[in-house]
Amino acid sequence: MKNLIIAIDGPSGVGKSTLSRILSLDLGYINLDTGAMYRAVALAATRRGIDATDHEALRQLCDEIIIEFARNKSEERVLLNGEDVSAAIRTPEISLLTAAIAACPDVRHAMVARQRELGAGGGVVLEGRDIGTVVFPHADVKFFLKASAEVRGRRRFLELQTKGVAVDLARTIAEVQVRDTADTTRTMSPLVQAEDAVVIDTTELDIPQVLERMFTVVADSHRADESSQAD
Ligand code: C5P
Repeated sequence: MKNLIIAIDGPSGVGKSTLSRILSLDLGYINLDTGAMYRAVALAATRRGIDATDHEALRQLCDEIIIEFARNKSEERVLLNGEDVSAAIRTPEISLLTAAIAACPDVRHAMVARQRELGAGGGVVLEGRDIGTVVFPHADVKFFLKASAEVRGRRRFLELQTKGVAVDLARTIAEVQVRDTADTTRTMSPLVQAEDAVVIDTTELDIPQVLERMFTVVADSHRADESSQAD
């Protein structure tokens, strides 16, 4: 079977991370959480006192840092220069800063180049905002996930609460909206739906229901590939 490139795009809190993790594990694929890469840049910038508007310093920073992923059984870890920063990159402060840092063209160039390198061989699920439009516009399968800001904020709130992070529901929903605005209105690679993406509105669906739809689309893609090879 062909090793597919699967793109999952959508706004924050829509379920991309959970879905891409399960999908990649089931298919035996690499899982690439591209948001975690931008978050790691934001964390590194904070630690070095670099402002989100200092594009030259951010460009240099991207040249210097090493971002890696490690999978420990089903758990994904994000490493920044060898240090496990999986928890440190998920705080509300870093989430907000990341949206600003991710608007810097030099940061995007550096991250997109790395994502293409990591995903080029196929057998990969990439989740982010611009995978199906910019990183891999010819991805074999493209999903675009949607849900209301209310529902996404609530999911993010519960997720953070489970992790023991002190959060406020109204504030979490407001932060989701601020990030939506930043991600959809930035000049470079804004969050937009690829024309050929399969759109799934997850507002009323739970994870197993969304997964069922995704697996059907992936199976169809494998079948289409097999029949084109047989022709
Ligand atoms: O997906 P996650 O919420 O972890 O992403 C954090 C931030 O990284 C997003 O709000 C967005 O600003 C940025 N991002 C991006 N392009 C991607 C993935 C994430 O700009 N492909």
